Amino acid sequence: MDYPGNLFVVAAPSGAGKSSLVKALLELDSRVQPSVSHTTRPPRGQEKHGREYFFVSPQEFDALVLADGFVEWAFVHGQRYGTSKKAIEERIAQGADVILEIDFQGALSIKRIFANAVLVFILPPSWEELRSRLERRGEDAPDVIELRLRNAAEEMKQAPEFDFVIINELFERALFDLKAIVHAQRLKFSAQRRARADTFKALHIL
Ligand code: GDP
Ligand code: ADP
Ligand code: 5GP
Repeated sequence: MDYPGNLFVVAAPSGAGKSSLVKALLELDSRVQPSVSHTTRPPRGQEKHGREYFFVSPQEFDALVLADGFVEWAFVHGQRYGTSKKAIEERIAQGADVILEIDFQGALSIKRIFANAVLVFILPPSWEELRSRLERRGEDAPDVIELRLRNAAEEMKQAPEFDFVIINELFERALFDLKAIVHAQRLKFSAQRRARADTFKALHIL
């Protein structure tokens, strides 16, 4: 189905800088809205229910799965994460651009459902830097960091399935690249025709 809003899906191995980049984009561009996922993992330090995630019990998650409330859900690092229909469908139908920060399995599911979704993969500049960012972030226990690094190898193998790749070495450069991808979607013929209908009509362009 062709919605007026764009759907951007950003995936990356844990620690590559996905959340920092998406957060910076949201602060710069009020036309982009985040999709807030549900998860069974516990909140980290400053995380707030309804802002980073809807933190739910395994039972609550099961109930949503049974009620067909998710567009996609997946097991990631031993926990369940899911994108609810509510988080995206209404908003892209109303013309908002919605950005999803989800794992590669979820990203590929979204692409099967929303063929126009734009898939962006964020890569770290090196293994050493990925490890040091996870350690510096200081939010995960050492065994969780090791699990996330082991999973990163498999996740990064999926990068070729994505439309765009950003290597997050210099943060400002990576943010510029992400903005450019969003900007390019808005310049697409179909989007311009919708957004600038009067101009197109006046120029006799169908
Ligand atoms: P926007 O889409 O309206 O935000 O504007 P542009 O995409 O044209 O540019 C955004 C800003 O990024 C401008 O100030 C550019 O000068 C700047 N810029 C251009 N190239 C680069 C680059 O390679 N790296 C960084 N960090 N900034 C750049
Ligand atoms: P993710 O959401 O992919 O797990 P985060 O956005 O939490 O990653 O970033 C992991 C850590 O790396 C954070 O402490 C963040 O501040 C830092 N970081 C992100 N991008 C860069 C960068 N380009 N250079 C240095 N550190 C970065
Ligand atoms: P974190 O616990 O670091 O916030 O996220 C762990 C992983 O789960 C990341 O790869 C993140 O992108 C992914 N994730 C977050 N929300 C969703 C979701 O709704 N669906 C899927 N499939 N993955 C998600």
